[in-house]
Amino acid sequence: MLAAALCAVAILAVQPVAAIELPKIPNPFKGEKAPKGSGFIALTFDDGPNSQALLGFDLGTKKPSRFPGLLDLLDRHGIKATFFMMGWRLVPPAPPEMRQAALKVNARGHQIENHTYGHGQFRTMARRYGEEWVLGDIERASRVIEELTGRRPYFVRPPEWSIWKELREKIERDPAGGERRYRVVTKSVGDIAEPPLYADVDTEDYRHYERDPAKRPPCYLKDCVKAKIRERERQGLRGHVLVFHELPLSVEALEDIIPWLAKRGYTFVTLGSYMSIAANGGME
Ligand SMILES: [Zn+2]
Repeated sequence: MLAAALCAVAILAVQPVAAIELPKIPNPFKGEKAPKGSGFIALTFDDGPNSQALLGFDLGTKKPSRFPGLLDLLDRHGIKATFFMMGWRLVPPAPPEMRQAALKVNARGHQIENHTYGHGQFRTMARRYGEEWVLGDIERASRVIEELTGRRPYFVRPPEWSIWKELREKIERDPAGGERRYRVVTKSVGDIAEPPLYADVDTEDYRHYERDPAKRPPCYLKDCVKAKIRERERQGLRGHVLVFHELPLSVEALEDIIPWLAKRGYTFVTLGSYMSIAANGGME
């Protein structure tokens, strides 16, 4: 079902977004005091590039989105984010505006990382074509991204968080026996128990696009995300890797979430910086 939902996201992401009827929900965080202390946020965006969400208009049709562009929003707050892009969107026969949008992401100083070439779910693809095929799909994306940015990706986020220990080790291992080749970012799934500080926080933004209101989360996206952050803070965590998708609705929610997080004392960093700060005890 998740596969179907994400597939729907991929389709929605390249089309003008129709207005969505959202339920009226009171803001549960009104008048809330920020906790003391510092903390770090890595904002990450999957499944792009999508010019409509990034720029606030479609580069191809010039049709404006009803939300502002993500890149301008990030610039306004001086934030560098991390984008997990799909390789196929960066080369022909994908529409050239996708590649143009990715170049803008890179030119504005954001980090572009690996979300595979074809976005095939690892479990399905490994069963169908073997694990070597999965490793090849990751490499294919890396080549495309490196050709575009001049920098080889280091982080790999498996599509739909389909990953297991053995495959993770294969992805991360350097065949030549040197430093690890990649670092897989994910959440705790199957036989993987990810430490909470390093685990992906799934904002489930794509679920807010469900046509069936019963399948949509029972809160506005911004409030659902705040609830997740507050829950993690209660566990003593002051670092969060937030996973959004390049969707107009997510950009709209971030207009509210970013100042809220800043007020709570968080600093926004790229995933690379986040991981090194966490590893050096900077979030304890
Ligand atoms: Zn994805």
